[in-house]
Amino acid sequence: MRTLLEKLRFVRALRFRLTLTNAIFLTGLLLALGFFFRGVLSNILDRQIRDILDEEWGAVKGYLVIHRREPTWMYDRTDQEESFIVERLRRVFLLADSSGKVLFTSPIYEDLGVNSADEIRRVLGSKQPFWQVRRSSEGEPFQIRGGTFVDDNDQVYFVAIGRSLAVNERTLREFNNNFFLALPILILSGSLLGWFVAGRALRPVNDLALAAGRISGSNLSLRIPLRRSGDELDHLIGTFNHMVERLEQSFEMTRQFSTDVSHELRTPLTAIRGQLEVALFTASSKEQYREAMINALEEVDRLSQTVRALLLLSQAESGQLALQKSLIELGPVVEDIVDQFQIPAEEARLQLRAETGGPAWIEADRLQIERLVANLLSNAVKYTPAGGSVTARVRTGEGAVVLGIEDTGIGISQEYLPHIFDRFYRVPGSSKEKQGLGLGLSFVAWIVKAHGGNIDVDSRPGEGTRFTVTLPSATEAPAPVIEQTTPAAQA
Ligand code: ADP
Repeated sequence: MRTLLEKLRFVRALRFRLTLTNAIFLTGLLLALGFFFRGVLSNILDRQIRDILDEEWGAVKGYLVIHRREPTWMYDRTDQEESFIVERLRRVFLLADSSGKVLFTSPIYEDLGVNSADEIRRVLGSKQPFWQVRRSSEGEPFQIRGGTFVDDNDQVYFVAIGRSLAVNERTLREFNNNFFLALPILILSGSLLGWFVAGRALRPVNDLALAAGRISGSNLSLRIPLRRSGDELDHLIGTFNHMVERLEQSFEMTRQFSTDVSHELRTPLTAIRGQLEVALFTASSKEQYREAMINALEEVDRLSQTVRALLLLSQAESGQLALQKSLIELGPVVEDIVDQFQIPAEEARLQLRAETGGPAWIEADRLQIERLVANLLSNAVKYTPAGGSVTARVRTGEGAVVLGIEDTGIGISQEYLPHIFDRFYRVPGSSKEKQGLGLGLSFVAWIVKAHGGNIDVDSRPGEGTRFTVTLPSATEAPAPVIEQTTPAAQA
């Protein structure tokens, strides 16, 4: 329950982080946009005022006449419009001669501060319009446009006019106020939207966490239903379900294994106990004690054999038994093991032979392949009555090497065939002394699988059995180096 709460908290934290990232991004974006548009607005306002001043400069040239170093405005005083224009031009106005000496200033220009003689001479020398922002004593900004003025007598003067920038400043201030007022509202609503969207997007993750929390060791059969939207979350759910399925299989295998092991160990332990009880309570002669002890020892042997085989098998199946692969030729390996089985085969009055054709190379762990052949041969010899025959064949197929172990033995009936590779499985009815641990074929199956091959069995009760092992043949053509290793394989 606690872990479930933690999972939910995690999802909530994720939702919070997503929303926070969204809010930070939104704030950055809005601020950048705000500054950009403020810049654009300021440029437009600036350009407008400069355009107006350029126009007014043209009007100055039309109306201004300099007479005896005094500015005189020539216009039709009855024309209201003209009067208005000239009045405006005269409001912010300065006239200076070519030496920089100021000849006239309007009161507003006076307040803004007259230009220095140096500055005036510099402007006159450059012949370029002169732009400047100046503030009145009350802090009101003015855009000043100055320049060269040549009168009818070709006399050069410096004239400057100006316009208040108060409206522009107010417009920009209003923009700032509105923007910074709207900013928190925009960020807040954007974040709320982000929170809502993140919540919706993460809801399936929540469901997944809840469903995962319900799955425990005892109900591994639970699966989270797919939403069939084909998105990343469906993919996650699919992967999760697969993982639980594999866990379930592995749990089942472990459970089966412990059941099998305890069952298998109980039989010899009961037998040992029985023999010890005989020795303790019923035996009276030295021979009887001896026999009980011998029987107990045999069971102990069987027990340790089982434990050793189990250990090996569990190491193999859990991947701890690393394969030492090398290029080997299967034919000589099989001939070698067949040779080793000749004596037991003769004792059982069986005909045992190997039929190996041309070179059949595989990339395999030599020791494990020997174990595989030995296990199959031992079974064939064990389950074939006197007078029968056992044949081991090696041939090459398409990209594969095929090993067949065939006997004319008792066979296995169809109903038992699917189980013979299971751990501890022995076909019911086989005689007690022949029965092994029931682990040989499990090990064979693992070896075949670990080498990327497969095993088939074909059997008829009373006629015989044939095991067919198919292993991928080595892709590399055996080079001379391989020949140096073949004597070992044939040894
Ligand atoms: P075991 O140690 O009992 O031989 P295996 O795992 O090697 O265990 O074999 C499982 C069972 O399959 C055996 O108990 C036996 O009944 C049957 N079996 C295996 N090989 C043969 C064969 N060649 N002929 C008949 N039965 C066989």
